[in-house]
Formats: sequence, structure tokens, C-alpha cells
Amino acid sequence: MNVRLTQFSIDLDYTDDSLRQAVLRILGLQASDLISCTVTRRSIDARQRRGAVRFTLRIDLEVDDVAGAAASKKWRKLHGVDIVADAPPDAVQAISPRPVFVDPPVVIGAGPAGLLAAWRLAMCGLQPILIERGAPADQRHRSVAKFWKNGEFDDDDNVLFGEGGAGLYSDGKLTTQSKLRGPMRTVLQLLVECGADESILIDSEPHVGSDRLAKIVPALREMIIAKGGQVRFHSRLESLEIDDGQLTGVVVSGQRIATRHCILATGHSARDVYQMLYRDGVTLAPKPFAAGVRIEAPQEQVDQSQFGVSAGHERLGAASFRLTRKPQGDARACYSFCMCPGGLVIACASSPGMLTTNGMSMSNRSSGYANAAFLVPVTPDDFGASDADPLAGIAWQSKIEADAFLAGGSDFAMPASTLQDFLARKTPQTLLDDRPSQRAVPADLHAILPDYIGKTLADSVPAMMRQMQQVNLDECMVYGAETRSSSPVRITRDKSFQSTSTRGLYPVGEGAGYAGGIVTSAIDGLRAAESLTTGFVVPPPAGG
Ligand SMILES: Cc1cc2nc3c(=O)[nH]c(=O)nc-3n(C[C@H](O)[C@H](O)[C@H](O)COP(=O)(O)OP(=O)(O)OC[C@H]3O[C@@H](n4cnc5c(N)ncnc54)[C@H](O)[C@@H]3O)c2cc1C
Repeated sequence: MNVRLTQFSIDLDYTDDSLRQAVLRILGLQASDLISCTVTRRSIDARQRRGAVRFTLRIDLEVDDVAGAAASKKWRKLHGVDIVADAPPDAVQAISPRPVFVDPPVVIGAGPAGLLAAWRLAMCGLQPILIERGAPADQRHRSVAKFWKNGEFDDDDNVLFGEGGAGLYSDGKLTTQSKLRGPMRTVLQLLVECGADESILIDSEPHVGSDRLAKIVPALREMIIAKGGQVRFHSRLESLEIDDGQLTGVVVSGQRIATRHCILATGHSARDVYQMLYRDGVTLAPKPFAAGVRIEAPQEQVDQSQFGVSAGHERLGAASFRLTRKPQGDARACYSFCMCPGGLVIACASSPGMLTTNGMSMSNRSSGYANAAFLVPVTPDDFGASDADPLAGIAWQSKIEADAFLAGGSDFAMPASTLQDFLARKTPQTLLDDRPSQRAVPADLHAILPDYIGKTLADSVPAMMRQMQQVNLDECMVYGAETRSSSPVRITRDKSFQSTSTRGLYPVGEGAGYAGGIVTSAIDGLRAAESLTTGFVVPPPAGG
């Protein structure tokens, strides 16, 4: 008999043995009645601020049929005990049968969306060609190190471009709001097969870290190649060939590739791709996004605020937070985003002369500092976009990023301020010492941001931070500007994941404007590849 326990509360120091004993006690079973006991979900319960933090578990059990039948009457009175008809419903999605393609499908961009799309196509035997403008993940650190150390920028190989995409130098948190459990499970299991720790399968806030991702991504690439896929690095998509609304080919670094199926997974930093799509008549629409700053605070103070007496427990690691504030008076809504416990604030760029901030961490999250973006929503009305001018949001972002670049001294150092100077709208003269984050120079961040964003942040941040009482605002720093929370443009598509204007073009991931974050983008790529293979009608040859 299969039994599932939910909302099972247990202390942080539990062992396999103490867990089994607690399960037996609650269910009134003998040790020999319990055939297996597997934790399938684990979250941190820090609601008891004055008491110790506990884990909340979901546990799947296999129980002897006879013993289970005898005890089940008692279980009906217990909250969180369910008899499950079959094995827990977390099975990985089946691989679709192989359709026949005349020309191989092409996937552009080896970020999370493109990698998962290419993997799915390769598993179907379709021998996809994966095109990536940057370097392999295991070589990207060379150009990234030069960029962070002395501001040397490479157009195609940088913090945002290269194999692994924007997700490679990231916190590597794998949280997602997606409700698609099957594809989510597929993505997480694939990451485990490629070297991620198995804990990501059960933790409610799974995390891998940049150091691990740099090993996971090449392993995933090798799987694609082993199944007949090709991966071409240092190859940039330059244009599409479209004939009467049907894609017939792509031009990559000057070379034509005939294809009637292209999964476009170029992310939301590839502004040249949006320009190219606009020029080639692919339908685009503006979309809202958010912008603001990144704030850094001592991790120990965040841990104490979130975990109280349990702060520092080795099983808890560095604490995270999520803060929100509704609009009040002139201030718009404000929320924390992409929080990186034990991480670093980093400078990012995808074009010369423009700078944006973000956060990353290593698997051990041990920098001693927490950081998070604090964002204010902006709408197409704010940046003057319309269906006739769908790229206005990019122009709006670019202006802030160009101002941030200048304020940082024009060499990709980050403009920064103490939080107190930022809140008082004072131009900072100095910054706090001993920070782990990269090159930063004092600057007035209000001069970079639109007034309504600066004002909202100055009003909202102290109120939001009050929810974390141990955090001392005198010890916090602010870096600017955070402009790339999500895409300002949508490449409109239909239910088959194809562009509404161009058959055979499958825009996916964060750049398409339908996903955000590592796992959600990966799921999007996976589902587009699935749609491409299942909704397939054998086409005439693309020619050439
Ligand atoms: C610093 C940072 C930290 C982040 N931390 C997290 C996190 O902890 N958790 C989380 O869920 N999300 C995080 N994100 C967001 C996450 O990385 C993105 O949502 C995700 O990577 C989007 O995936 P994608 O595949 O759609 O696009 P991308 O990851 O942007 O990948 C696009 C790929 O396309 C390639 N490309 C672009 N143009 C071309 C072209 N013309 N020809 C060929 N190739 C091209 C690029 O080189 C890149 O490899 C972070 C982002 C950043 C920048």
C-alpha cells in the first residue's frame, strides 16, 4: 500500500533513523510494516520566530498491505495522511515518437531554454543543430574574468552570452512558479543526471550555484551530441529567411542553414536579435517588466532575522527573503527579486557602453553577504511603446544602462551608494569597506533612475526591510541599475509555440517573453520541442 504524508514537521537534526521512528509512531506501525520511506519534498518552516526552525516534509511510504489495512481506520482521523492509489504521480514525461524531417531543426541559443529544446529534439533522434554565439561553458570564465577585473568586454562571450546563457553566472536557484509538474521534474532529473545534487529533487527552494552549473552544462551538451545533435560555438544568428510566412532557413555567421523549424532561444539580452526580427517582419509586442537597484546586506543579519535561534544551523545554510509592498501614495508597488543568499552583486553587459547589475552565488553560498534586486514595475505607457514601436522598452533600458556605465567611470565598475545615502538622496562620498562584490564607485543612483523609480524605492525599502529586524540599514549597500528583470518585448506565438507571423519559428524562453528564470525557461524550451515533434506534418524540402 502506498501512503503519502504531507505537512510532516520534524526538527532540523533528524536522521533517517529518527525520521523512520517518528513515522512508525504516528502511523501506529511496527518497523517490519514499513517497506520504504522516502522524503519527496522538504521546506523550511521558520514561522516560529522565537522557537527553533523546523523542516516540513512530504514523505512517500510503502506499507505492508495487511498492516496498512488494519491501521487505516486510525489514519482517517489524522491530518496529512493519504493512501495513494499508485506510485506517487511524479513520473518523467515520455519521449515522443520520432517524426521525419527533411532538414534538421535548428536551435539558436544555448541557455536553459535552448539546451532543453535541443536535448528533447536529440532524444527524439532529430539530430538538431544548436547554435551559440559565445564560448563553451567551461571556457567562458576567461572573457568573464577579464570583464570583471578590468572592464574588457567581448560582444559574444560575456556574463550574459555563451553556453549556459544568462543562467551560468547566476545564483542557480531553481525555484519556479510553473505548475507543470511533469516537465519540471524532467528538468530537475536531467540536471541531477548531469551532476547536480539529488537534494534539488526534494528541496522547495532548490539551488545549484555557478560553480556546479559550469560542470552541469557541458555534461548536458555531451548528452545532446551523443544522441546525434551538433553544437556550434562562436556562431551567431544574423538573419532569417522567410518565404510567404514560412521559415525556410537561417543565416549563421554568414552561412545559410536550410531549415523549416527553428527554436529561437536567444534570451532577452540579445537586442540585435529583436532588431533583426523587427526588420524581417516577425510580429513583436511590448510587455511590462520591472527595474530598480540591487541591495546588499550582511548575511548573518539576514539569517538572524529569518531563522532566529536556529541561525547558523548547518542544514539551513544562508537564509533567503522575499519582500513586497503595495502602492502607497505616490509610491508604486515594490518587490524583492532574484535574491542571492551568500552571493555577489555582479556587473553584466551585452553591449559596449552599457551596464546592468545582477546577483550570483557559488554552491556553498558563503560570501557572507546577501543581495536582492528591489524592483518597481514599469509598463509600456512608461516607456512609450506600442505595437507600432514594440522596441521602445529596449531604448528605455538602454538609456538607464548607458547612464549607469558613465556613472561607474566608463570601465564597467558598478555605480554604488550606501543605502542610507540613497535613502537620503545624498551623493555618496565613500562606500562601505570589505564588500565581496566587484569593482564599484560612489555615485548618485537617483541620477540614473527615472524619478518615480527612485522615489518608490526610497519610500518603500525602509518599510520592507523592517520585516527583517536584525538587518542594520547602516551596513547595507545599493548598486545600480537593475534593468533586466524580464523581457520588455514579446515575440508573439500561438498554442503550437510558433510565431503568429512566421510558421516554423518557435520563440521560447525569456527572450520570447513567455518565461523567466532558469527552470521556467528550460520548461518552455522543452515544451516547444515537444510541440514541434508532436504537431508535425511532413513538410516539403526547404531547398538550397
Ligand atoms: C546574473 C544573473 C543571475 C540569475 N540568477 C537566476 C537564478 O538564480 N535563478 C533563476 O531561475 N534565474 C536566474 N536568472 C535568470 C535566468 O538566468 C534566465 O531567466 C534564463 O537564463 C533565461 O534562459 P533563456 O534560455 O531563455 O535565455 P538565456 O539564458 O539568456 O540564453 C540565451 C542564449 O542565446 C545566445 N544567443 C543570443 N543571441 C544569439 C545569436 N544571435 N546567435 C546565437 N546565440 C545567441 C546567448 O549567448 C545565450 O547563451 C539570472 C540571470 C542573471 C543575468
